[in-house]
Amino acid sequence: MSNKKIVILGAGLAGLSAAWHLQKKAIECFVLEKEPVVGGLCRSRQIKGFIFDCDGHLLHFRNKYTLQLVKKLLKDNLACHQRSAWINNYGILSRYPFQANLYALPRPIAEECLLEFLKASQSPQSKAPADFLKWVNASFGKGISRHFMVPYNEKFWTVPLNEMTCAWTDNFIPRPKPSEVIKGFFAENKHRFGYNATFWYPRRSGIGQLPLAFEKQLSNVFKNCRVKAIDLKKNELYAEGMPKIKFDTLISTMPLPELAKIIRPLPGNIMSMFDKLRWNSIFNLNLGIDGACQEGRHWVYFPRKGIAFFRVGFFHNFSDNIVPCGKSAIYAEVAYSRNKPINKNRIIPKIINDLKSCGILSRKNRVSVLDVNDIKYGYLIYDKYYLRATAAIKNFLLRNNIIACGRYGSWQYMSMEDAILDGKRAAGKIKR
Ligand SMILES: Cc1cc2nc3c(=O)[nH]c(=O)nc-3n(C[C@H](O)[C@H](O)[C@H](O)COP(=O)(O)OP(=O)(O)OC[C@H]3O[C@@H](n4cnc5c(N)ncnc54)[C@H](O)[C@@H]3O)c2cc1C
Repeated sequence: MSNKKIVILGAGLAGLSAAWHLQKKAIECFVLEKEPVVGGLCRSRQIKGFIFDCDGHLLHFRNKYTLQLVKKLLKDNLACHQRSAWINNYGILSRYPFQANLYALPRPIAEECLLEFLKASQSPQSKAPADFLKWVNASFGKGISRHFMVPYNEKFWTVPLNEMTCAWTDNFIPRPKPSEVIKGFFAENKHRFGYNATFWYPRRSGIGQLPLAFEKQLSNVFKNCRVKAIDLKKNELYAEGMPKIKFDTLISTMPLPELAKIIRPLPGNIMSMFDKLRWNSIFNLNLGIDGACQEGRHWVYFPRKGIAFFRVGFFHNFSDNIVPCGKSAIYAEVAYSRNKPINKNRIIPKIINDLKSCGILSRKNRVSVLDVNDIKYGYLIYDKYYLRATAAIKNFLLRNNIIACGRYGSWQYMSMEDAILDGKRAAGKIKR
């Protein structure tokens, strides 16, 4: 056993994975979680027989290690699915990704997209595009940008795209070859593009089974323990319902802006770096409904401005066991931020109306359950300050024995797999 005191802040996937990997090395640690359940964003809730995740949460694996680990944790409770993802644009449903499936669009729009794409692909860039908007235009041409990439990404990120960099794009936006774009101009392109072409999901119950499986193998996970103050001079922390805790090292998966509120002292130059962090928020409405709905489809993107949500997904098509017999369950995702606020008193009826007007809900689909997740920290904005601010913050934390970990703890665009790997990385930094 190590005689150092290691404390992990947060029992989302990153914190649980850090604890699991430390336990594997026989290093003792404590996990403090503010909520009554583990899982963070990767949690599920049961309401009137419906199991709702906190928004859509599907597992994608790039890495054999994580797939094996998740299989070990969930045993037979894991199934692999081929994505069935769609785009609703100009009232037409076409297969995702847009750039490789121009076939369904009105002919003049499809031709504009293809010609501009070919023009862009014949003008190689001498240097990396300066911002995300330039990257989109250079990668896909002005047609695909105008008809999908710009409206969709502005709706999703909620900020002008020229304020963002493209440091995050490689893993998340598929860039088909010209031959694939041409193929998709003539007919539906079934080639599996991108990181999410397949996904994994529990056979029974929701995604929250994964953190619960981690928790079962861990000792020393304390729930309902909100960390309220961290004294860097005394290496002490204060958490609800706990005596004062002395620590040698903290692994923090709390969102950085929340951490900034509780650590003392915080030098002015570091505080100003925390102030540079930007993010969007996600208003997630889950609906339990009567009857069948969008059978076989997993999710649909909505790039148009007038529609509240940017994406809608179908829980009942991830697993047979998460809705009562004869019912369906939908999640709708609305992005907002200081830049682009939403009216929270009006957003629920607006979402339901839009689901009807887009043909997602039919007359037979009576809504019987609503479940809201207002996710304050949704997607982190990579802007021109991002690299400098996150590097300065993480160096400062490290000098003070705090390892930044996880999607919001280390402020990176991470999937669940990435969060698990980041927990492993953080555990690896601790020596016995
Ligand atoms: C809308 C949305 C959809 C997503 N969909 C997918 C998807 O389909 N597939 C995928 O792979 N990834 C998806 N992700 C990403 C995925 O959710 C994250 O990468 C992963 O869950 C992050 O885990 P984490 O442990 O880093 O953070 P979190 O899950 O945020 O965990 C942090 C934990 O810290 C706790 N905490 C915070 N403050 C305190 C405090 N003061 N004291 C104690 N505890 C505290 C929180 O309660 C939480 O449990 C999605 C993310 C969002 C926002």
